[in-house]
Amino acid sequence: MGLGLPALRQPLVPFGAAASMVHPASGYLISQILRKSDPVAKSILEGLDSGGAEAAVASGNATLWPRAQRRVWELYGFGLEALVDMNAIAIARFFDSFFQLPLEAWSGFLAGTLGPSELGVVMTRLFRTLPASVRWHLVRSSLSDGAAPLARSFLQSGLT
Ligand SMILES: Cc1cc2nc3c(=O)[nH]c(=O)nc-3n(C[C@H](O)[C@H](O)[C@H](O)COP(=O)(O)OP(=O)(O)OC[C@H]3O[C@@H](n4cnc5c(N)ncnc54)[C@H](O)[C@@H]3O)c2cc1C
Repeated sequence: MGLGLPALRQPLVPFGAAASMVHPASGYLISQILRKSDPVAKSILEGLDSGGAEAAVASGNATLWPRAQRRVWELYGFGLEALVDMNAIAIARFFDSFFQLPLEAWSGFLAGTLGPSELGVVMTRLFRTLPASVRWHLVRSSLSDGAAPLARSFLQSGLT
């Protein structure tokens, strides 16, 4: 968990835990693998048919990491950094609020099926319902160096 996103251009299609596919919030991988393996394999085959090895790699990577998916992973990355820094009391308060969200919001968050805008809306909604002490912790985290992707993701997901 917590690995950076794979480089956009490289001579292979990185796949699996070492390729940042582990869900940054849940630590699970299997659902990602099941969701992605078929479309990625098809893209690689189409690329091979149309333009050879280079096209196959580009096509596989484009299917594996579309821009929206990269944004989503960056947003999750921010949440992960903020959470690992919290003490036990703050984490308990955080999850009390998290599971007060509507079912489709928290289950979509944990399943990794939300797009960047939807994820941003869920995170913003959660932020509003958190106790002040936890909110303050998140604000401090967002001002740290590691949170640059958050600002970029929010700006590019159209939430501003
Ligand atoms: C305790 C635990 C519980 C988990 N529970 C769940 C769960 O319930 N649901 C879920 O979805 N996920 C779960 N996960 C996460 C998931 O199991 C892992 O993310 C997944 O097994 C990783 O699979 P992988 O094939 O990508 O990587 P790995 O299983 O790490 O396989 C990589 C392989 O590559 C080999 N290798 C590494 N470097 C080299 C090299 N240079 N040359 C040759 N071979 C190399 C390694 O020896 C290894 O065999 C859990 C993880 C843990 C630790």
